Amino acid sequence: MSGTNDIPFLDLVALHADLREELCGVFNAALDTAGFVGGSVVEEFEIEFAAFCGTRHCVGVGSGTDALRFALIAAGIGRGDVVITVPNTFIATTEAISQAGAQAVFVDVDEATCNMDPARLRDYLERRCDRRNGTNLIDRRTGGRVAAIVPVHLYGQTADLDPLVEIAAEHRLMLMEDACQAHGAEYFSRREKRWMKAGSLGMAAAFSFYPGKNLGACGEAGAVTTNDPELAQRIRMLRDHGQAQKYDHELEGYNGRLDAIQAGILKVKLKHLPRWSEMRRRAAARYRELFQVANGPIGLPHEPEWCRSVYHLFMIRVARRDELMQHLASRGIGTGIHYPIPLHLQKAYRHLRYEPGDFPVAEKQAAEILSLPMFPHLNETQQRRVVSEVTHFYSAERAVA
Ligand SMILES: *Cc1c(COP(=O)(O)O)cnc(C)c1O
Repeated sequence: MSGTNDIPFLDLVALHADLREELCGVFNAALDTAGFVGGSVVEEFEIEFAAFCGTRHCVGVGSGTDALRFALIAAGIGRGDVVITVPNTFIATTEAISQAGAQAVFVDVDEATCNMDPARLRDYLERRCDRRNGTNLIDRRTGGRVAAIVPVHLYGQTADLDPLVEIAAEHRLMLMEDACQAHGAEYFSRREKRWMKAGSLGMAAAFSFYPGKNLGACGEAGAVTTNDPELAQRIRMLRDHGQAQKYDHELEGYNGRLDAIQAGILKVKLKHLPRWSEMRRRAAARYRELFQVANGPIGLPHEPEWCRSVYHLFMIRVARRDELMQHLASRGIGTGIHYPIPLHLQKAYRHLRYEPGDFPVAEKQAAEILSLPMFPHLNETQQRRVVSEVTHFYSAERAVA
């Protein structure tokens, strides 16, 4: 049953309503020129998004999954390589690794931030790998050469990148950021003594512009950012059947281009992104205040002082999560779980031979996390109702006890 009081998990209708004319203009311009794939609009967006992220290059591609896959392939990662990531991410992260020909290996996440834990990464490299031929680190379990790490900036919050950059340099690993949830998130680098944008700290970064992301197309789209011109050039070839020029194929590539209509839409929406991020941050602050007053048994997201989150999601941690989720659904409040089954326990990855208990932090979080409604136009009235329904659920429980 749906009512006018319902609070969706994500409201994209309100967000596009204000922009309808401009967005329709993009489509009309494409019809006028019949320039649907590639062309100057794509290049303009690439330049603007690179500037937004503080990188020298941006290559528009078909999706976030394409972005990560092409970045890994362009960096030379392939068969016999191991790529380290976290188990509490969307499967696209590991699909990109496997489809580049490499094998995914997981390390557990930090209890407070839910992102890759530098200490656990170090522990894995030092205790579960052997050094061969002086330089190559070999994963003892699979015999693969450890080639890269892919931290995921989950929920709009960067991983602790300084120690990860340091560890990567020390062990000669490539660092590829999965920034698909973190457009515009900032990290204070103690090494560089300045705030830096997500997507500008690694060798390359993958962004998704899936409609529900903080910067979303009206369809599928993605991009890679990097400061390395040669890497950018290889990704340009990979997205377009490996051609440097038409019908001149230097390598076998993919059909993974960004189309012109999506690029035009992204250009329009990018102008509003800083304001939308600010609105999300304000909504997050309001949730914190409201929950503090309510004083319920609710675990709130931890935002370290070195990170400015863009709150792609507002995730709380609770007991009896599934029941709470049902209760909220019955009151017309949409929620989500990101993600309910850690990747190492997915059927698709049985062949990796992980077991329950291998990554206790990620497993515990998977059972407790709940993402509440979060989008730029979420208002205080809606948030008061969400918080009061959540706290009511737990106070009713106490009353019964
Ligand atoms: C959305 C997402 C992706 C994949 O992006 P698509 O554009 O859907 O291919 C990859 N990683 C993470 C963490 C994501 O949230």
